[in-house]
Amino acid sequence: MSDAVPLLPFVRRDRAMRWAVGIGAGWLAAFVVLLVIAQIHPSTAIVDLPYLVPIVVAVGLSFAAAWKTSGRTRIAWVLFAVSNLLWLIGEVIWVFYTYVFQRGPPAVSVADFFYLSSYVLAVPAILVAIGSSGHLRHIRGLLDAGLLALGVGTIGWQVAIAPSLPHAPRLADAVAFAYPLFGVATVTLLAAVGLAGRHRLPAWAGLVGAGFAVAGVTDAVYAYTIAKQNIDSNWINIGWQVEAVLLGLGAVAAIRRPEPETRQRDRVRDLTAVPLVIAAMSAAGLILADRLDGGPITGGTLAILLALFAGVLARQLLIIRDRTRLATQLRAALREQERLAITDGLTGVYNRRFFQEMLRIEAERADRADSPLSVILLDLDEFKKVNDGYGHPAGDTVLAQIADRIRGSVRAADIVARYGGEEFGCLLPGVDEEVAIEIAEQIRQSIGRLEVAVGQGRSVKLTSSLGVATAGTRGGHSLDDPDGLVNEADSALYRAKATGRNRVVAAGMLVDPVYADPDLPIGLVWLADRIDAQISVHEHSTAVSRWSLLVAERLGLDMAALRRVGAAGRLHDIGKVMVADSVLRKALPLTAREWEDLRRHPDESARLLTELGGRPDLAAVAAAHHEWFDGTGYPRGLAGAQIPIEARVIAVTDAWAAMLADRPFAPTLTVDEARVEIERGRGTQFDPAVADAFLALVTAGMIGALAEPARA
Ligand code: GH3
Ligand code: MG
Ligand code: MG
Repeated sequence: MSDAVPLLPFVRRDRAMRWAVGIGAGWLAAFVVLLVIAQIHPSTAIVDLPYLVPIVVAVGLSFAAAWKTSGRTRIAWVLFAVSNLLWLIGEVIWVFYTYVFQRGPPAVSVADFFYLSSYVLAVPAILVAIGSSGHLRHIRGLLDAGLLALGVGTIGWQVAIAPSLPHAPRLADAVAFAYPLFGVATVTLLAAVGLAGRHRLPAWAGLVGAGFAVAGVTDAVYAYTIAKQNIDSNWINIGWQVEAVLLGLGAVAAIRRPEPETRQRDRVRDLTAVPLVIAAMSAAGLILADRLDGGPITGGTLAILLALFAGVLARQLLIIRDRTRLATQLRAALREQERLAITDGLTGVYNRRFFQEMLRIEAERADRADSPLSVILLDLDEFKKVNDGYGHPAGDTVLAQIADRIRGSVRAADIVARYGGEEFGCLLPGVDEEVAIEIAEQIRQSIGRLEVAVGQGRSVKLTSSLGVATAGTRGGHSLDDPDGLVNEADSALYRAKATGRNRVVAAGMLVDPVYADPDLPIGLVWLADRIDAQISVHEHSTAVSRWSLLVAERLGLDMAALRRVGAAGRLHDIGKVMVADSVLRKALPLTAREWEDLRRHPDESARLLTELGGRPDLAAVAAAHHEWFDGTGYPRGLAGAQIPIEARVIAVTDAWAAMLADRPFAPTLTVDEARVEIERGRGTQFDPAVADAFLALVTAGMIGALAEPARA
């Protein structure tokens, strides 16, 4: 039978089933007793009427099952019920013959018509029943079963029946053989499901199947005894009684549980070789028999051989088709799984894992090809407000459309991924920083133009902040460190947020304030570099500028102040060009005159910025960068808020750079020692808020070495 019908556990659990099985078994025992009595007191009457009882019960229960079940199961049970009713009518006619004519019916009678009709109906009933637990898509199973039936039938005929048959078969023989044939057919159908291997049948189908199997065997034995010239015996009736009991139990089971158990494991059995072996054996047997008879191979044998061959061929073709389909489905399923594994479900762009994987791959490829690789990280501005104002689902809709916009702004070869909740990442192979900034700008503008409808006539407009970082170009990040590249883009994004959102910031922009302030007088920048080089503190002013920007961001200064702090940080010391070289290079202590000379440099810086650079805004900052918070600095002795905030920032970062640098006049300090110095100057030399912000950045690891190794 089919996949593990959990019949026994079901019977054990179900009270009504336990009762039904008990009654059925009790009846069969009683019937055996009746048969024994009939043997002792030869009288068929004792057996004939009780014989009808389980059939009547089975008919009743079948109709009840048809009544209680639904769908295809009901159709099957209506058919089973009518089939059983026809059987009962046949039996009644038999009994009628026995009582009215005082002998059994003729060899072929009206009763046979009903019996056979009953079988004929059972076949579609089973077909429907099979369909009710799935689809009858396993024609292969049917074919296998057909092959089995043909093979077993052929062997059975040859071994058991043909040798004892008179040469001219009677009609009675034909009718008698019709029964086992139908029996085999019905059992075959049920076996088909099992051989197809993927169906699960309800418990009742198991019982009905067993009933038909018993009937088939009983009919076969009966046909055999008839063929052997009417060695009739009452004992054969036990077989049909068992059939009736099993059909009745099947009906009860259908009422109790019409559907198959789903808890069991789905075992797939491979019995595909069995029908082939049987078919081959029966073919061989047929040929052998014909040869033993001494004659040529008969037409009948040829027909059966042909049928077997056609059957085997058809089933092999079906198997091939099945396998091909399965393979195609598997491939498609696999592809879909792969796609799902790298895709973000909400937005349809790649997920973060894939982004990271591709980042590594693209970095290696860029390294080999000696080409740049850029990363853009994007975070939507004030996205929480969308969720709060319109609900999370609206937020999701917005995210999906934003993702489309980003996708539409980059090339097909670029990787767009959802990097976090409302963060996206783009991986741009072969793109240098300048182009990456352009692309990021396009994305920003595209998102800025987007209006997402969120229902009820409302729509959402959003801005975004983007951080860009590039590796593999001169001055760019190293391609050996793809994670560091993303961190750089992240810092740039952070800066874009800190400097007012709705903007693109590139990692490179932060290092050289020339980027941040396009009006920076380039000649003065050159001068600043000369001075750095002259007093052997390379990178001094770029570091001061970079760190000052970070501190200013942390303090929440506005964009204009940020630009000033970046530019002034770079140019604050240019006035030193007016200080004697000997003073600049001299170790402490200085003479009073020398001090005076040195103290002029803030004002000289301011003068140069105003007169040469045309930047009085920067001049005010540069002039005040040696003022102390407590008013004891130079050149004016300004205190607290009198000192421009940009100058207060530069005071800290300038001191830090000086302490860490290889100064001619004082030893270089360690980071911890420099830290102590800043803390000591907190409130006196330095604005406490600025000192705290700076030290927090130091703690966070944002203040790197004086010179950034990767950048010239
Ligand atoms: P900011 O400009 O600083 O980025 O402000 P913000 O409100 O966007 O702040 P932040 O980036 O920290 O917050 C992200 C918010 O995005 C938090 C969360 O409510 C929302 N979010 C994250 N993932 C999803 C998502 O899958 N669907 C929706 N609807 N909202 C999300
Ligand atoms: Mg975010
Ligand atoms: Mg955000």
